Amino acid sequence: MEKIDHYRSCLWGNLPNPDKEVKILGGGISGLLLAWHLRKAGYKVVLHEKASHAGGLIHTHHGTFGTFESAANGIIWSAEMEALCNSLSLTPIKSLPQSRKRYVWIQGKWKQVPGSFILPILSRLPFILKSYPHAQWNSIAEMGNEILGTRLLKQVLSPALYGIYAAEAEVLSFEAVFPGIATEMKEGKSLFQSILHQRKNQKPSPRKGLHSFEKGIQTLTDALTKDLGDSIRLSSTPEFSPDEQWINCLPAHQIASWTNDSFLKEQLTQLTYLPLVSFTIFLDKKQLSQLPPGFGVLIPGENNLPILGILFNHQIFPFRTWDESLISLTIIAGGPRSGPWNQPSPNPAEMEHMLLKALKRILPFDGNPLEQNLFLYTQALPLYGLNYPMIKNKIRAYLSKEVPNLSLFGNYTGEISIRGLCKASAWIAQEGRA
Ligand SMILES: Cc1cc2nc3c(=O)[nH]c(=O)nc-3n(C[C@H](O)[C@H](O)[C@H](O)COP(=O)(O)OP(=O)(O)OC[C@H]3O[C@@H](n4cnc5c(N)ncnc54)[C@H](O)[C@@H]3O)c2cc1C
Repeated sequence: MEKIDHYRSCLWGNLPNPDKEVKILGGGISGLLLAWHLRKAGYKVVLHEKASHAGGLIHTHHGTFGTFESAANGIIWSAEMEALCNSLSLTPIKSLPQSRKRYVWIQGKWKQVPGSFILPILSRLPFILKSYPHAQWNSIAEMGNEILGTRLLKQVLSPALYGIYAAEAEVLSFEAVFPGIATEMKEGKSLFQSILHQRKNQKPSPRKGLHSFEKGIQTLTDALTKDLGDSIRLSSTPEFSPDEQWINCLPAHQIASWTNDSFLKEQLTQLTYLPLVSFTIFLDKKQLSQLPPGFGVLIPGENNLPILGILFNHQIFPFRTWDESLISLTIIAGGPRSGPWNQPSPNPAEMEHMLLKALKRILPFDGNPLEQNLFLYTQALPLYGLNYPMIKNKIRAYLSKEVPNLSLFGNYTGEISIRGLCKASAWIAQEGRA
């Protein structure tokens, strides 16, 4: 079985008491998943959402040329996602076989991952198989440099990380991003053994890999909302009362403004949030004849381009364009790279112009996109930075002792992805009843 310690630690504060009603604040995917799992485990739950529609960042749009997402594009599957979708009678769709090919773009050359890096990987095997029980790695870069070497770190690991965490290996905490691997390596396992062990310990699922739904990710948030029924209060922002049992599922930077607790405010303010741009364009296939088959391409920082990566949407999932003659691309930018998103009032038109110009260097296409939609989040994702483990420990200890009726849960409390949030909420609900 998987180690529960990490998933339990994703709820900062006390586990809810099943004999008392749980008030959940925030109906993004974090709040919806936690409310759903708690209710399934027999808790009485009321979820309060400020907006008139739950789902938070997640929103699927149906444009003139196809379907596109405002935030999450896919969910890496797990036993917990399978159980959830079975209960909700949802049918996930698997990513298309051609999307297994992934690329890194290095100074004009398309390199397939891991195929193009087999020799460098083989040359690092002695380090990958070695045990480092006394290593004191703070950042992923420190671990990566020692085990994988600079080339694999800069050209493969770091770009893959900003594809998920929107940050480079230098600023990401090894312990926060890979808690399971970091613990096992401290116990004396090699990197290879730890990864293998983590994979083996996953609950088995009949489906694996990246999934979505025919009508996009919003299918999930809509189904959760419907199933929660009158346990959800929309357009509702109740005041905190310490006599009731609360779980706050807002992003950390919003909790810092919401709370009157000066210690909590001070600690949460130290968690950095990174800006992110998700820019989807539609093209006619005639405009771009040389798109390689695959999932997409990561753009390492050494290229000095503002783009972090490009998703080839129409090659990842079916039903992403209204017909076969179209191409759908999502350009992800922001994160650690400087650009208009770092300015106080960024200009969307300027950003679109800049991103299209950079895109043409990687994928030269004729003319202008048929349709383009830009989503800018000035505080998109929490940074699992070097100060993260210390802040997490401080807030957890403080809440358990000083504010026992308030707990926090969200994409900054230990798991950033929908898959991770689903696993953590399933474990928390199960553990609270144990
Ligand atoms: C561009 C982008 C791409 C991504 N891609 C992926 C991906 O492919 N796969 C993946 O797994 N993850 C992905 N993610 C991550 C994932 O989408 C987020 O982690 C997740 O959606 C965050 O959900 P949340 O519920 O924590 O926060 P939010 O979605 O921000 O929800 C917070 C909710 O709280 C509500 N609220 C605010 N204030 C109050 C109040 N006072 N009272 C009540 N309610 C309030 C808000 O209205 C909102 O509904 C991506 C994220 C981004 C930005």
